[in-house]
Amino acid sequence: MKIKNILVTGGAGFIGSHLCKSLLELGHYVICLDNLITGSISNIQDLKRDNNFEFVKHDITEPYFRDNIDQIYNLACPASPLHYQYNPIKTIKTCTIGVINMLGLAKKNNAKILQASTSEVYGDPKVHPQKEDYNGNVNMLGFRSCYDEGKRCAETLFMDYKREHNLNIKIVRIFNTYGPNMTKNDGRVVSNFILQALNNRNITIYGDGSQTRSFQFIDDLIVGLIKMMNSDFVGPVNLGNSAEFSIKNLANKVIKLTNSSSDIIFKELPEDDPKRRRPDISLAISKLGWAPKTELETGLRKTINYFSKEN
Ligand code: NAD
Ligand code: UDP
Repeated sequence: MKIKNILVTGGAGFIGSHLCKSLLELGHYVICLDNLITGSISNIQDLKRDNNFEFVKHDITEPYFRDNIDQIYNLACPASPLHYQYNPIKTIKTCTIGVINMLGLAKKNNAKILQASTSEVYGDPKVHPQKEDYNGNVNMLGFRSCYDEGKRCAETLFMDYKREHNLNIKIVRIFNTYGPNMTKNDGRVVSNFILQALNNRNITIYGDGSQTRSFQFIDDLIVGLIKMMNSDFVGPVNLGNSAEFSIKNLANKVIKLTNSSSDIIFKELPEDDPKRRRPDISLAISKLGWAPKTELETGLRKTINYFSKEN
């Protein structure tokens, strides 16, 4: 295998840090570009000892110049609702100006570029499960719009750079992913529930807990991302685990697996919170030969183990 120079934007974040690690294990040279707005140096501390790893503190909304880049994984963007709503204009800038900067870098280097898009492009979907040809049901005016519409615009930009400049692009729509290196207090449901349970605090369910999500363990996603980058397929392709769970069911699983004495309490459901979400992954199976392998309880055990040490 030819060793490649690979740029990972958002490489100090949850998904990015796992991706950098896997790419280093495959023998590549990895440049991790991150402004640390939601990521953390502790996620990449071990990787910094590797001579094939380079960390560059940089905000992708500013142009970045570099030669000899073979591949770009564009992961830079806050991902938890709490984080992306904290500075919504910055979130949109990252998804538009930042994406244009990275597409320009790919064009100059004739590099392949992969966009980490999201199941949020389907909004609060009216079609189940969600296939890639579903155009979604997105509110462009609400609190989640900076992220949902930002990511939709990023997909458009990717397609236009392909059409106008024949750029070698890939679009991946990632569904809820969890695992070690998730930020402790970013408000996402898996980390929230695990930390609450480990500390025997109340488990906070928003709404009545009947809303569903499909949870994918990080290791499965990383395999899918690398397969997609090295395939001939442009996408968009859904990468997620098609097992669907209600949030209430998730809370009970976490309580059981942590032996916690936590009680469940119910809080107000945030605006535009999607009611159901489940990927149709037949395209990923047929085009990439990829399907997730980790069942929810197995992945939760590994994540609980990580948070018990961090707690
Ligand atoms: P994360 O917040 O842990 O990581 C995002 C990283 O991007 C952080 O390290 C952050 O500092 C960096 N970043 C943000 N804005 C930046 C900018 N302007 N310039 C440079 N760096 C910047 O989130 P994550 O869960 O690892 O998500 C990574 C990517 O995957 C995001 O693009 C997200 O939209 C996408 N995604 C994640 C999920 C999920 O469930 N985790 C689901 C769908 C899509
Ligand atoms: N959620 C919850 N309690 C929490 C955090 C989240 O009930 O402490 C719910 C949230 O309202 C949503 C689901 O869990 O219905 C998933 O939320 P998350 O923020 O993890 O991801 P997203 O909504 O982006 O899928």
